[in-house]
Amino acid sequence: VRVAVIGAGVVGLSAVAGLLDRGAEVTCFERADTGMTERSAGSSRIFRLAHTDPELVRLADLARDGFCRWAERAGAPLISGVGCVISGEDMTDRAAAMHAAGATYRIVEGEVARLPARRPPDQVLVDPVGGVIDVDAVRRLLVDGAGSALVRGVVYGLDDGPTGATVHASTGTGRFDAVLIAAGAGTPPLAAHVGIYAPTALSHHVRFAFPLQPGPERPCWIDGPPGEPGTYQHQTGPGLWSVGGHVDPAATAWELGREAAGEASQDAALAYVRERLTVEPRIVETLYCTHTPDLGDGIHLRRSEGVVHAVYGENLFKFAPVLESMLAEALLGDS
Ligand SMILES: Cc1cc2nc3c(=O)[nH]c(=O)nc-3n(C[C@H](O)[C@H](O)[C@H](O)COP(=O)(O)OP(=O)(O)OC[C@H]3O[C@@H](n4cnc5c(N)ncnc54)[C@H](O)[C@@H]3O)c2cc1C
Repeated sequence: VRVAVIGAGVVGLSAVAGLLDRGAEVTCFERADTGMTERSAGSSRIFRLAHTDPELVRLADLARDGFCRWAERAGAPLISGVGCVISGEDMTDRAAAMHAAGATYRIVEGEVARLPARRPPDQVLVDPVGGVIDVDAVRRLLVDGAGSALVRGVVYGLDDGPTGATVHASTGTGRFDAVLIAAGAGTPPLAAHVGIYAPTALSHHVRFAFPLQPGPERPCWIDGPPGEPGTYQHQTGPGLWSVGGHVDPAATAWELGREAAGEASQDAALAYVRERLTVEPRIVETLYCTHTPDLGDGIHLRRSEGVVHAVYGENLFKFAPVLESMLAEALLGDS
C-alpha cells in the first residue's frame, strides 16, 4: 500500500512509524529541512493523564505505555517522573474524569506540591505519572525511524478519488492509495482541496523560559485561576522554568502580527512571573508557534469521500504513541 503523509511534525512522524511497522510504502513530505520544527519544535512538553474527559485520560494512559515502548527503542526514558500538578477552575472535573477512567491521583495541600509559587494554591490535584517529555529524544527516534521515507518537499495540491489520490508536490506528482494530511497550521488549506473542513483561525503563542533557582525537583504545573487565562509550566532543562499562557486572547490575535503579539505575551509573562512565581523574572529562551484557538484537548480525525484523512488538534504531543497506531490503522484499514 502506498501512503503519503504530509507534514513531519510529531503527528506525521508518529503515523509514519506505525505505517512502516505495518509494511506500507511511505513517503512523508516535509517543507522544512528536517522534522519537528514548527509546532513540534523545542526540547520539552508536558505529559499528563489529567484531562476533563475520561476518554482522553484513557488515551493518555495508552500513550504512556507507548512512550515506555518507544523508550526501549530509544534506549533512554522519554518522560521524566516529576509528576504533574493541576490547580484552579477545572481541577474537580479533571479529578472526576481520572476517577471515572480508573487513573491514580491525589488531592493535596498546595504547600506540599513543590511549586515555585509565591502563594501556592490551597489545594492541587497530583497526577503522579505526569512529567516532562524529552522532545529531542522523540525527534531523534522518529526522524531516524522514518529514514528515507522522509522527503523534503512542499505539497501544494491534492486530487482525491475512490481508489487513490494524486499528490502535487514541489518534488513532482505522485499517486497514492491513501493520504494523511498532518501539516499542523498547513492542514486547513490542504484539507479544503478534498472537501474536509479543519478550523482555519490562527493566533500567536509564545512560551518563555526563566532561570530557576536550584532546589527540589519541581512537578509540571497546569494552573487555571478562576476568571483569568490559565498557564502551563514545567522545568524545561537544568535551571530553566518555562511558562506559557496567561495572555488575553485579544492580544495574540492573528491580525496583530507576530511582533506585537510576541511583545504582549512577553509583558504578560514577565508581570505574571514577578507577581506569582519565585523564579527570576528574566527571559532566557522563547518558543514561538502558531496556535489554533478554542480547540481544547483532543484529537480530530476526518476522512474525505475518497482516501484522504486529515488530523488536527491541540496538545497532541502527549498522544504521539497513540497516534502511531490510530492513524496507521485508519489509513490502512477502513476505520
Ligand atoms: C509552545 C508549545 C507548548 C506546547 N505544550 C504542549 C504540552 O505541554 N503538551 C502537549 O502534549 N502538547 C503541547 N503542545 C502542542 C504540541 O506540541 C502540538 O500539538 C504538536 O507538536 C503538533 O504537531 P503536528 O505534527 O500536528 O504539527 P507540526 O509540528 O507543526 O508539524 C506539521 C508539519 O507540516 C509541515 N507542513 C505544513 N504544510 C506543509 C506542506 N504544504 N507541505 C509539506 N509540509 C508541510 C510543517 O513544516 C510542519 O513540520 C505545545 C506546543 C507549543 C508550540
